[in-house]
Amino acid sequence: MTARLLEGTALARRIREETRVEAARLASGGRPPRLRVILLGEDPASMSYVASKTRAAREAGCDAETVRLPSGTPPGRLLDEIAEANRDEAVDGLLVQLPLEPGHDVRRVFDALVPWKDVDGLHPENVGLLHQGRPRYIPCTPAGVIALLEEHGIPIAGAAAVILGRSEIVGKPLAALLTARDATVTVCHSKTRDLAGVSRTADILVAAVGRPGLVTRDFVRKGAAVVDVGLTRLTSLEEAPAHLRGSPGLSRAIAEKGRALVGDVDFDSVSQTAAWITPVPGGVGPLTVAMLLKNTVLAARLRRERSA
Ligand code: NAP
Repeated sequence: MTARLLEGTALARRIREETRVEAARLASGGRPPRLRVILLGEDPASMSYVASKTRAAREAGCDAETVRLPSGTPPGRLLDEIAEANRDEAVDGLLVQLPLEPGHDVRRVFDALVPWKDVDGLHPENVGLLHQGRPRYIPCTPAGVIALLEEHGIPIAGAAAVILGRSEIVGKPLAALLTARDATVTVCHSKTRDLAGVSRTADILVAAVGRPGLVTRDFVRKGAAVVDVGLTRLTSLEEAPAHLRGSPGLSRAIAEKGRALVGDVDFDSVSQTAAWITPVPGGVGPLTVAMLLKNTVLAARLRRERSA
C-alpha cells in the first residue's frame, strides 16, 4: 500500500468532545439538547446506525430517544409522528432514519420536518440555504467528508472533484459544499457514461453509491484522494463481488463476526494508486455521527436564541 489513510476516528472524537462541552454549557443554563430519531421498520443496518447515533448523543451529554415504528407502518402514521415531534417543545433535533421502506415518499417526509429541528439538513429550506452558501444544518455525511479533507490538508480550491452518487443526503449536498470551496465538481450517477474515465479526472474522488468494490484501480488517477462513503453489510463472502473475495480483511471479518462492512472502493487495489484513501470502517462513518451531535447542539442553541 502506498496511500496514506484518511482516518476519521480521531477527528470524530475531537468533535464529539467539543459538542460535549457545548451540551454541558446548554444543560447548565436549562436542559441538555434533546435528539429524537424516528426509525421505521427492522432493517438491521438502520437499527445499528440508530443505536450508535443515540448512544453517541448520550455520551455527549444530550438526551436521545428513538421512536420505533413497525415495518409496514402507513405513510400517514409516520407523518403524524413527525408532526408530534415538531410540536414537542422538548425536542431540539429530529431525524428520520433513511432509507424508508417502499411505499413512503421521502420528499413528503423532508417537507414535514420543521426546518429548525431538521438536523440532517434535508428540509427544502435548509437545502436552499446550503446551496446559497449560508447553511444552517449541513447534512452530516457531506460535512464529515469536508472535515476529513480539511483535517488532512488536502487542497479543495481549484481541485477537480468527482462524486459518484447524487442522493439528497450525500451526493447533492456534497457537490454544493465542494463548489462553495472552489472545487470544480462533477456529479456521476447510474446513467453516467464511462464512469471509470470520468473518475480518473479527479484529484478528489468521493464514492457514495452503495456498491461494494465498484471503484477499482482503473478509476483512480495516481496521487488522487479517495473518500469512500459507501457502506454495505455483507454476511457471507458469496455476497461480495468476485474481485473482493480474496481480500484477507473481508474473509477475516466474516469468519470472526459473521458480517463485514464494505465500502464502494476496492481498498486493496486502489491504495496502490491513490495518495490518500479512507479506511472502511473508520473513515467517514464516525464523522457522520459526530456531525449529527454538532447539529443537535446547534439546534438546541438556535432554539434558545429564538426564544430569548
Ligand atoms: P442512494 O440514495 O441509494 O444513492 C445512490 C446513488 O448512486 C444514486 O445517485 C445512484 O444513481 C448512484 N448509483 C447507483 N448505482 C450506480 C452505478 N453502478 N454507477 C454509478 N452510480 C450509481 O444512496 P445514499 O443514501 O447516497 O448512500 C450511498 C452509500 O453511502 C450507501 O452505501 C450508504 O450506506 C452509504 N452511506 C454511508 C454513510 C456513512 O456515514 N458512512 C452515510 C450515508 C450513506 P441514480 O441517482 O441514477 O439512481
